Amino acid sequence: MAIIIEGRKIAASMRMEIKEEVTRLKEQGVVPKLAVVLVGDDPASLVYARSKEGSCKKLGIDYELYVRPGTVSGDEVIALIDRLNKEDSTHGIMIELPLPKGIDKQKVLESVLPVKDVDGVHPINRGFILSGVDGLFPATPLSCIEIMLQNGIEITGKHAVLVGRGETVGKPLIFMMLNQNATVTVCHTRTKDLSYHTRQADILIAAVGKARMITAGMIKPGAVVIDAGINEAEGGGLCGDVDFENAVKVAGAITPVPGGVGSLTTVMIQKNLLKAIKLQGRRP
Ligand code: NAP
Repeated sequence: MAIIIEGRKIAASMRMEIKEEVTRLKEQGVVPKLAVVLVGDDPASLVYARSKEGSCKKLGIDYELYVRPGTVSGDEVIALIDRLNKEDSTHGIMIELPLPKGIDKQKVLESVLPVKDVDGVHPINRGFILSGVDGLFPATPLSCIEIMLQNGIEITGKHAVLVGRGETVGKPLIFMMLNQNATVTVCHTRTKDLSYHTRQADILIAAVGKARMITAGMIKPGAVVIDAGINEAEGGGLCGDVDFENAVKVAGAITPVPGGVGSLTTVMIQKNLLKAIKLQGRRP
C-alpha cells in the first residue's frame, strides 16, 4: 500500500511560513498585494478568484479583484494591467483564464510585468525555466515539485515520466524536473505504447485531464505517482488522472485528488508573491 501524500498538510504548514513572512514585511512597511483580473463571467474562474481572496486575507495579504465584462476589449484589459504594473503597492498580478474569445490571450499575458507575473505565464519567466535561472514559475508545476521535496522524495537521478505536455502543467514541468536533475520522458497523444513508458517511471506525473486514465497496470511497483489532473468524476465530485483506488495498491507514494497537488496551488501563488516583492527590490 502506497504512502498517501497529503497536499493539504503541506499547504497548511507553508501558509504558516507565509503568514510569518507577511508579518515581517509589514513591520518593514511593505503590505503584500495581489491583483487578480477576471474578464467575463466564467463561473469557475469566479470561484477560484474568490477562494484566493479568502486565503490571502487570512494570511494578511491585500487582495483586489478586478472584474471586467466579457464585452471589454483586449486594449482595455491591457490598459488595466499597465496601470497595475506601474502601481508600487501592487506586487503581483494574475489573469484568470480562460479569457473570452476575441481577446488575444498571449498579448494580455505578455503585458504583465515579468517581476509581477505571479502565475509564471510571461515568456520571460518561461525562458528562465529553460535556462535554469530563478524566476516566477507556474503554480501547479511548482506544487508537483514542492509536494515531492517536502516529503523527502529524491528527484535527482530518478526517471520521471510526464504524461501531458500542456502549456499550464506538463510543458513547464519538463524543464523544472530537468533542473531538479531528473531524467525526463514526456508522453502525449502521439506517444506509442504509453503504458510501456509509464511503467519505466520512478516518478510518474499525470497532467492530462482525463479521469482515471492512468491505471494500476501502467505503474511500476513502488513508483512515486503525482496526479495533477482535476476532472469531474462519474457520479459527482472530483477525481484525478490516476485511478487512485487501484494505483494506491501498486505505487510507493501517491497524491490523492482532491487533497493533493491542487491543495498547494494557491499557496504557491502566494509564495510567488513574496518572491516577486524580493525581485522588485522591495525588501532587504
Ligand atoms: P492540456 O493543456 O489540455 O494538456 C493535456 C495534455 O495531455 C496534452 O499534452 C495532451 O497531449 C495530453 N493527453 C491527452 N490525452 C492523452 C492520452 N490519452 N494519452 C496521452 N496524453 C494525452 O491540459 P493542462 O492545462 O496542462 O492540464 C492538465 C490537467 O491538469 C487537467 O486535468 C487540469 O484540470 C489539471 N490542472 C490542475 C491544476 C491544479 O491546480 N492541480 C491546475 C491546472 C490544471 P497532446 O499535447 O498530444 O494533445
